[in-house]
Amino acid sequence: MAIYKAPLEDMRFVLNDVFQAEHLWSSLPPISEVTRDLSDAVLEEAGKMVENLLFPLNRDGDEEGCHFEDGVVTTPKGFKDAFKTYAENGWTAFSGNPEFGGQGMPKSLAVLFEEMMHSANSSFALYPALTNGATLCLDAHASDELKQAYLPKLYSGEWAGTMCLTEPHCGTDLGILRTKAVPQDDGSYQISGTKIFITGGEHDMVDNIIHLVLAKLPDAPAGSKGISLFLVPKFLPDAEGNPGERNGVAAGSIEHKMGIKGSATCVMNFDSAKGWLVGEINQGLACMFTMMNYERLSIGIQGLGLGEASYQSAVDYARERIQGRAATGAANPDGAADPIIVHGDVRRMLMTMRALNEGGRALSAYVGIQLDLVKFSEDEEARRKAADRVALLTPVAKAFFTDRGFETTVLGQQVFGGHGYIREWGMEQFVRDCRISQIYEGTNGIQALDLAGRKVTRNGGRYVESFLAEVRHWIEENGQEAGLDGVREPLVAAVDRLQVATEELLRQAGDNPDAVNASAVEYLDLFGYVTYAWLWAMMMVNAAGRDDDFGRAKMITGRFYFERLLPRGEALARQLKAGAETMMSLDADLF
Ligand SMILES: Cc1cc2nc3c(=O)[nH]c(=O)nc-3n(C[C@H](O)[C@H](O)[C@H](O)COP(=O)(O)OP(=O)(O)OC[C@H]3O[C@@H](n4cnc5c(N)ncnc54)[C@H](O)[C@@H]3O)c2cc1C
Repeated sequence: MAIYKAPLEDMRFVLNDVFQAEHLWSSLPPISEVTRDLSDAVLEEAGKMVENLLFPLNRDGDEEGCHFEDGVVTTPKGFKDAFKTYAENGWTAFSGNPEFGGQGMPKSLAVLFEEMMHSANSSFALYPALTNGATLCLDAHASDELKQAYLPKLYSGEWAGTMCLTEPHCGTDLGILRTKAVPQDDGSYQISGTKIFITGGEHDMVDNIIHLVLAKLPDAPAGSKGISLFLVPKFLPDAEGNPGERNGVAAGSIEHKMGIKGSATCVMNFDSAKGWLVGEINQGLACMFTMMNYERLSIGIQGLGLGEASYQSAVDYARERIQGRAATGAANPDGAADPIIVHGDVRRMLMTMRALNEGGRALSAYVGIQLDLVKFSEDEEARRKAADRVALLTPVAKAFFTDRGFETTVLGQQVFGGHGYIREWGMEQFVRDCRISQIYEGTNGIQALDLAGRKVTRNGGRYVESFLAEVRHWIEENGQEAGLDGVREPLVAAVDRLQVATEELLRQAGDNPDAVNASAVEYLDLFGYVTYAWLWAMMMVNAAGRDDDFGRAKMITGRFYFERLLPRGEALARQLKAGAETMMSLDADLF
């Protein structure tokens, strides 16, 4: 059976030791009250909640899935009650705006909470994840009237939110969407069209569902410049602000899918539904990006969380399962065989999983810190720098966490041998649940394009330059630390490699319009491996002084990362250098 315990010690290490988050929070007035004691206690409570409330529903939720009948969607047994408890205990308000009932917790803490949620029950975690993104978007772009009417109910968990972008003929290319918004005399809009694949579009866990919908006015300019954003509730609020008349929006069906079966993925039909504009006319995509950027990091963390859950179960199994003998002689002479954790190849899998999970956790906390700076810093220059960092690293976090998360869940399944393929063990569920994270919220190919195109070649490499300067500065300051013995040179070489690859990408982009699209994935992967190397170096500097099991394990895992995983970047740099020629020269009808 799969097991899961929130990795509290590692989370505290990252937050408190590596990033000294308390020090940062104390300098940011809106969150200056958040102390280390408070954040440790919050993580502990969150851990108990996910372990006791959500994880026990994970397997059964997968077996049962969601149900659809006459437009009504029912979530798996236990989800509704669990959501009620989850909301009553305030988890739905975690990092919401306190002006409207949110708890205003730092993002650097929230990312660790989100990881636990996805480890314990990814299907369940998606419902609050969509609501959180919707509240961020409304808080940033909606009128005061809309904020007053909707945010308190969304933070309290009475209502939930969705993100309605995708249509049958368009997913990546939202510029061609067809959903229409017709202005009404009372200032509202009539929304008509069909959205597909809408996570949490309809379900039974809340009293009202608030859809954030992209649509076009009749006279809108073509393409993405003509998209506006609307708030469309399932029930129109009555005079007291409670769910009143049913609006013209309903689920037409739910999808039957490979994984995340407890998450309702709905076709949503909007039939002259009443909606209200959020933000300016024709600025809908820019507004929606507030939600999409939140979701991108959150979905990245889905990959990370599932990788961690898979790792913990794989270690547990590797200690118990006995097969064969250790190459150095029997480790369990009284038993018929040794536990498989003695074998090098099993250790290769476990160490790979562990090194990728811990590197990813550090990067998610780093991005969380940048988001705290963007939101709360009073220093304009610090806010700008952090915003550049978030822009650069969001696609990396989304794609690299989920690609590595998928690799990790497959390795965890492999550790179980044939049992990994059998449903009751739960390991194949982690693989299936993780697979979608590479596809939705913009495929990983599109994330790579965002990085290599918008964030690198289209701004002349400035974001990368500033990021690499931060890494080099850190190396200058910390390079002589004992914890870096043996990894200093590979780290410097990796940073140089990323710089050369960035220059190569910029050069190729100038020569060949296909270059960026053809090499973006290799570039993003290289970026991810180098960034993890820096974060591993930071962790090693902090762990080196510790004379305990945690410190020893951290140092060995760090060395493994540098010796066995970082070298993947060398091949990626060579692939990138080869350019687009072979890829683009085969005629489409010869494939
Ligand atoms: C379970 C599930 C839940 C979802 N939840 C939501 C939700 O809540 N809200 C919502 O709005 N949507 C949701 N989606 C939709 C999801 O975001 C899209 O499926 C995804 O963005 C890809 O769009 P598409 O399926 O239309 O693929 P397409 O856009 O048709 O892409 C097909 C392939 O072509 C590639 N491609 C396309 N354009 C380019 C390009 N310019 N350069 C290089 N490669 C390209 C893609 O990377 C992909 O590999 C969900 C989907 C699923 C399956």
